Amino acid sequence: MSRNGPRLSAGPAGYAMDNFGPRVQRFFIEHPDWKPSVDSHCPIGWDSILGQALADLYELARSRRARVSIRQVKEKFAELRIYFRVAGESPQIHIDIVGEGGRLSGRSPRASADSIREAAMAIVNRASEESRKACEVCGQPGSVRPGGWLRVFCDEHLPDENLD
Ligand SMILES: [Zn+2]
Repeated sequence: MSRNGPRLSAGPAGYAMDNFGPRVQRFFIEHPDWKPSVDSHCPIGWDSILGQALADLYELARSRRARVSIRQVKEKFAELRIYFRVAGESPQIHIDIVGEGGRLSGRSPRASADSIREAAMAIVNRASEESRKACEVCGQPGSVRPGGWLRVFCDEHLPDENLD
């Protein structure tokens, strides 16, 4: 394994699908517009953490009628980082309530982009926290190991000194 880990030739978006584990690859195949726009990768041991975060973000965007775009996914300082943007606000929905004595008209409360961003941030932060405790090779409980690179490993996958 090289210093930077496995890296395949860059595709049009600046990275290869093999930079991700099977669950995340499946997600990007189903939702190609969710692919990160910038060179991205995720250690295989964190595949289910990232896969869950993407599924949660997708559900958030769907239920709030917001557009979330993933800018970049990577490991940084021994944790999974997901950079995203929330685009626009969901449109106001006009509601007419017809009842006795007349007709009320109003607008639904505006679903603010801020609250969507906050919910998305909670999903992303939870994934980062989980990744700090999961071996990046196998996903089993691990911890941040000191060394030339800050990485998370379980005992079994702790690399030899010569990694650095
Ligand atoms: Zn491991």
